Amino acid sequence: MTIRSLLATIVGLCVSSTHAQPPTTNPPAHNVILVMIDGLRWQEVFRGAERALISKEHGKVEKEQPVLDAYWRDSPEERRQALLPFLWGIVARQGVILGNRDRGSLGRTENPHWFSYPGYSEVLCGFPDDRIDSNRKVPNPNTTVFEWLNAKEPYRGRVAGFGGWDVFPFILNTMRSGIPVDDSIVPFTAGTITPGLETINKVKTEIPRRWASANFDAIVFRTAMEWIPANTPRVVFLGQGETDEWAHEGDYEQYLRAARRVDGFLAELWAFLQHHEFYRGRTAMLITCDHGRGDGAVFPEKGMKDWNNHGAKHPGSDQVWLAAIGAGIPSTGEASDGEFTLAQTAATLAHLLGEDWNAAEPRAARPLGTIVWATTPVTP
Ligand SMILES: [Zn+2]
Repeated sequence: MTIRSLLATIVGLCVSSTHAQPPTTNPPAHNVILVMIDGLRWQEVFRGAERALISKEHGKVEKEQPVLDAYWRDSPEERRQALLPFLWGIVARQGVILGNRDRGSLGRTENPHWFSYPGYSEVLCGFPDDRIDSNRKVPNPNTTVFEWLNAKEPYRGRVAGFGGWDVFPFILNTMRSGIPVDDSIVPFTAGTITPGLETINKVKTEIPRRWASANFDAIVFRTAMEWIPANTPRVVFLGQGETDEWAHEGDYEQYLRAARRVDGFLAELWAFLQHHEFYRGRTAMLITCDHGRGDGAVFPEKGMKDWNNHGAKHPGSDQVWLAAIGAGIPSTGEASDGEFTLAQTAATLAHLLGEDWNAAEPRAARPLGTIVWATTPVTP
């Protein structure tokens, strides 16, 4: 080795250790699963349970001790690991997680409403729209990245959605897009229906309903876990909504338990993907939320109970987080700087598949730089 090449190697090592060079060798993902956990705050994702809310006064917690035993630990790192063991034990180590405001990673919605339909539509379309200003069952006037993919080979008929809220078929505009969407309430009859799905469909109509237009996450998750192996979709939406429902009830214990349950579902889904021939090694999973919630600790004038609300009148509920793992996702872990918006999710999802959503939809925000740098650039 000559002095010159030795110097070049040393310089190269220094450069790569301080400013990682974008490799362009990661192939695109073959399949993508987008999971959205409704209204799960970044505060719980990055700090774990909040002590003041484990109380009768602020979180309707009748017996504090079992909740403290399950979720309270000395440090934020231990607390978040106790609450979301898959997210922190696997996703944050093998993938990326963005939105820890305590470390300077700032995520927000672009829409000014900070509630569900505008949040989901922003994620799925890649931009906010003034016309999307309520949760009414209005067919989405805009084309989602899911609808675009479903109209395109090789994704045609290989796109599906599952969500615990009866507005999802409108957000994904099933009538126009043709995407089958399970709303957790009406029996799901699209594609191949297994005996397991027939049972879940019966249970849906036989169990009492706690919420008028939503159902429990397990119903949604079990439907997805039966349907996915039988129909092998390439692009999947999975909406989990109990976090938001329990929060609106002001029940912090059930909110935490719902978050912990979803984390377990994600661990099971991830394990399934790694063992199934069609998905193993070529599937990416994006995990995010549709909005944040109020923060009584930061805005005391709103009161501690503001954690249960969200919307434009509740400061902080525009603050969001996002995580990703799998094919095409770098293992850069927890971000400690940078800004992003929910609107970037749509183009990121397309980019992971090697598709360019920005070219098809000029209003869409660019893909997340944190994820894009590690994947093969989309060919123009
Ligand atoms: Zn929501």
